[in-house]
Formats: sequence, C-alpha cells, structure tokens
Amino acid sequence: MKEQTQVLNKATFNNKQNPFQERLRDLTNTYFQTHDINPTGDFRLYLKTFILVPAFFGLYTWIVFFTPVWWVALLGLALFGIVKALIGFNVMHDACHGSYSTNKNINNFVSYSMNMLGSNAFFWRIKHNIVHHTYTNVDGIDDDIMKSPIMRFCESQPRKAHHKYQHIFAPMLYCLATVFWVFFADFEKYFGKRISTTPINKIPLKEHIVFWLTKLYYGVFFIAIPCYVVGVGNWAIGYFFYNAVFGFVMSLVFQLAHVVEKTHFVDANNRKVQINSEWAAHQVDTTADFAPNSKVVSWLMGGLNFQTIHHLFPRVSHVHYPALQPLVIQACQEFNIEYNVYPTMGEAVKSHLRFLKYLGNNN
Ligand SMILES: [Zn+2]
Repeated sequence: MKEQTQVLNKATFNNKQNPFQERLRDLTNTYFQTHDINPTGDFRLYLKTFILVPAFFGLYTWIVFFTPVWWVALLGLALFGIVKALIGFNVMHDACHGSYSTNKNINNFVSYSMNMLGSNAFFWRIKHNIVHHTYTNVDGIDDDIMKSPIMRFCESQPRKAHHKYQHIFAPMLYCLATVFWVFFADFEKYFGKRISTTPINKIPLKEHIVFWLTKLYYGVFFIAIPCYVVGVGNWAIGYFFYNAVFGFVMSLVFQLAHVVEKTHFVDANNRKVQINSEWAAHQVDTTADFAPNSKVVSWLMGGLNFQTIHHLFPRVSHVHYPALQPLVIQACQEFNIEYNVYPTMGEAVKSHLRFLKYLGNNN
C-alpha cells in the first residue's frame, strides 16, 4: 500500500513559463543591488543568536542547578519553552535554508541548533526545505498537513465525527508536538526512510552518527541530568510543562501560515495532479502572512509572519522580509494574484481556529 502511495501522489507545476517569478526576481535583485547588501543574515540576526542561545543555556542552568521556588521555576520553564521556539524560528530556520550566512560552513554549523533543541537538522532539511517548500499545501505530499487519525487540515481529507471538536482539542495536541517529534516522528523518519510519502534516498554514515549522538545528548541533557539534580517527579512536571509551551508556540506559528481561511489546498491523494499555476504563484495561493506592521511580532517570529515572502525567497534571510514585502505586493498586483495577509496575529489565530471548525463540520 505504501509503495502504491509513493508512486501515485505526484504534483507538477506549470513552470514552462514563469513570468511572475522572473518579475519577483528582478524587483528583489534590484533592491539588494541598489542597497548593496547580501540577501543573507546580518548583524540583526547575529544579535538575536547572541541573545537567544545564551538565554537557552542560562535558563537551563538556573532552573536545574539553582532551582527557584516552584512558581518562579514554572515561569522560567515557560520562558525556556518560548526561547527554544524562538531559536527554531530565528536561528535554526535561516541556517537550515542556507540564508544565515554567505559562508556554507557557518550555515551547516548553525543548523545544528536544531539538534541542540532535540531534533535533527538532516531530516528537517528534507521535510521542510524540499517537501514542504516545494509542495506547499499539496495534500498527500506536504508533510506539514499530512492527514492523521486525529486532525483534518483540508477538505480533501476524510471527515470523522471527532473532527467536530478539533478546533477545541487542536491547541492541546500542539502542546504535545515536540515530545511526539523527539520520541516518535524522528524515529519514524529514520527507520522508515521516508517523510510521509516522500522517500529518503540515502542517509549518509555521518548522519547516522549525528542522529544517535543527538538522541544520546537529548537523553543526558534534557532527561538524565535534570532527573539526577531535581528528582524524577520535579523533572517530569518541568519537562512536560516547558514542552507544552514549546510545542504550542512552534506548531501554532507554522499553522498560521498555511492552515487558515484565506489559503488554498491541492489534492494529490492517489493521483498525479498538474497544477495550472507556476510554482511561485502556487506559493502565494497557499500561504498567508500576519502582523506585517508589528516590529515585535516580526522580531520574535523570525520572519514566519512573512511566510509568503519566505516561501518565495527561502534563501533570503528573514531580516530582509519587511523590506521585500512591498515588492511582493507590487508583483502580485501586476499579475492579479491575491496576496493573503492578516493584519494582526490574533486575526490569524482566529482564522486558523475558524477554519478547523469549518473542516470539522463541513465536507
Ligand atoms: Zn522555511
């Protein structure tokens, strides 16, 4: 059955001519040339790294070795979960796309921040850079919206009775996402050698070693040491608490870009679909931005509130997205393509929950 799925689920774009993408490339190339800057990260990104990474180790040391009174510890753990998510959004995401630095070795090194958080940069690059970024919202291929027994993310997925309540229980599931990822999803990819329906052709020897070393590090750093210092009971409360914050923030922010009322989906289940639009237009159709005018949201989200810009220019660092947004809007207007945007993060969250509710009640 799996073999069959692998062969049948296919999508191709109408890329024989791609005038929209060429226009976008012209506009942005002109921007970088006239400002004489590189599309990769700059001091703004490196400053974030030097705030977030020491915050990660500082909070860990404080909570594990100098554990404060319980309610202060819980606040510290919530902050630890948020800092982990922010490292994912701001540092890991850029590095894994190769947009952190002009130096490939620096990108590779910084991409191990994914392993530092507990997952795996090698699998992330395939899942995210290749599968998700190419086949965005293509049901049957895009792992981010892959159907599960619990959630229904788009209309082409079968509706079950419990989906009626998915807008209520989804936030709770998001809280479990990172624990699920570390203890199940990574192993499923590793032993199954596939990202949902996309096979992983080869796992190099180095990546086998990195995979197991990361799991060992995770067991020692996040489980054994805290258990030894604060006791198993305290560790368990703290571990599930900060992972709930980490998983919730991480999952929600990624969902706001694609699973909302304004975005579109394509059904490639058990079939080969020819998408009529060129790849770049498909990215705009299937993605939404939010809170583009909020400097605070933009700083925290690492450009994930500018996901349309990110999907069009994944190799451009997120620090440039606010400047590129007017150029993308201009190109969309010229080509009569709708640019999806929510004015605030709250509006995007409401739209996500309304869309889940709609999917739970309508075929
Ligand atoms: Zn990305």
